[in-house]
Amino acid sequence: MRIAVIGTGYVGLVTGTCFAETGNKVVCVDVDSAKVNKLSAGQITIYEPGLEKIFLRNIKEERLRFTTDLAAAIQEAEIIFLALPTPPGADGAADLKYVLGVAEELGKLLSAYKVIVNKSTVPVGTADKVSAAIAKNYTGEFDVVSNPEFLREGVAVDDFMKPDRVVVGTRSERARKLMSELYAPFVRQGNPILFMDERSSELTKYAANSFLAMKISFMNEIAQLCERMGADVDMVRRGIGSDERIGKRFLFSGIGYGGSCFPKDVQALVRSASEVGYDFKILQAVEKVNASQKLHLVEKIKAQYSGKISGKHFALWGLAFKPNTDDIREAPALSIIAALLQEGATITAYDPEAMQAVKNALGDSIRYAPSQYQALAGADALIIATEWSEFRTPDFERIEKLLPAKLIFDGRNLFEVAKLQAMGYRYISIGRPQ
Ligand code: NAD
Repeated sequence: MRIAVIGTGYVGLVTGTCFAETGNKVVCVDVDSAKVNKLSAGQITIYEPGLEKIFLRNIKEERLRFTTDLAAAIQEAEIIFLALPTPPGADGAADLKYVLGVAEELGKLLSAYKVIVNKSTVPVGTADKVSAAIAKNYTGEFDVVSNPEFLREGVAVDDFMKPDRVVVGTRSERARKLMSELYAPFVRQGNPILFMDERSSELTKYAANSFLAMKISFMNEIAQLCERMGADVDMVRRGIGSDERIGKRFLFSGIGYGGSCFPKDVQALVRSASEVGYDFKILQAVEKVNASQKLHLVEKIKAQYSGKISGKHFALWGLAFKPNTDDIREAPALSIIAALLQEGATITAYDPEAMQAVKNALGDSIRYAPSQYQALAGADALIIATEWSEFRTPDFERIEKLLPAKLIFDGRNLFEVAKLQAMGYRYISIGRPQ
């Protein structure tokens, strides 16, 4: 099939590349000409495990290309995917200006039947709005389909190639047939394509992300109780996770959820609910818990120094909002950095992939180290904010030499408490005995 993907960020690039990998001819469009030039030159613009290899292969096979020219890109496409940003507006609602702006442009460019598929996370009713925006300038036939994306950054290629399920919101038989054909190679193992109406599909995405965010905030509140009651959140997690009704995944306590999706999607669903007169109480609590949990480690750091951290110097391991990505959007590490700098502390940070993004955002307000160990030089303590694998089994003898204070604040519970204590570390983590 011939496919156009509009918006070539995390979702658009993975979507375009994976569809090319299953034999389709894909053209990815973006307004960012620097990005398009880089991609056209075979340089990948995001860090995502496994992506570069298939990206390069499909460019070579001439199944994948990049352009800024929307009009040319959509001419031959049977299916047009929208993978555009939907950032929160001032009131927390998803801002649809990119999606509706492109929809209006499409209306001016369409001349034959096409399926326009929305992959962006959008509020219920957006498919209707996209249809109306196209119909302003185009009276021919077209279908607008909702096809929310569930990939996780860090494992995006795997998630896309082997999705747990594909959700497709459409009431058009013609669009349904095309979508079934397109996704057939991705559901060969019996994972379902769930067809439903557009509104249910749009809400499914928000419900999924909000539920997962709720699990995280719930466990973070259990961790708070553990700290006050002398229980160990790791034990409680195992105790409840072995119950099939609860499940083992997404039960880790830490320093809160971040990233480009959970915070904005929870906020947007709260807002959408209030627009239809419903007060989504659980989700408001989820947000509140997360905001305070992001700073929970800072409270522990301050408590360790009787409230005075001015002049202290910290090594910070991990900047990305989660491992295996260079994405720092809403990363808890950034909240920790801001709070520590505000209190007059200084920081040297290390992250395997996200350092450039932080340099772009924060400049020289903190220092950057070329390795996790070099970050420790001259530090009063080590803070861990992202659970990269390479932080999980570090060389503790080396750490001890560089960090004589032997003080670690771990926001991701990477190490065994007893082991660290036996090595003489003061090890402060989340929801576990100190
Ligand atoms: P992103 O910011 O990484 O990428 C968006 C891209 O769209 C950018 O490259 C931008 O330059 C481009 N763009 C903006 N306006 C454009 C226009 N008029 N024409 C062409 N290109 C344009 O965003 P993302 O993380 O890929 O997210 C896209 C959507 O997918 C959002 O709604 C998000 O909520 C949703 N989503 C994201 C993830 C994720 O893990 N990142 C997962 C599932 C769903």
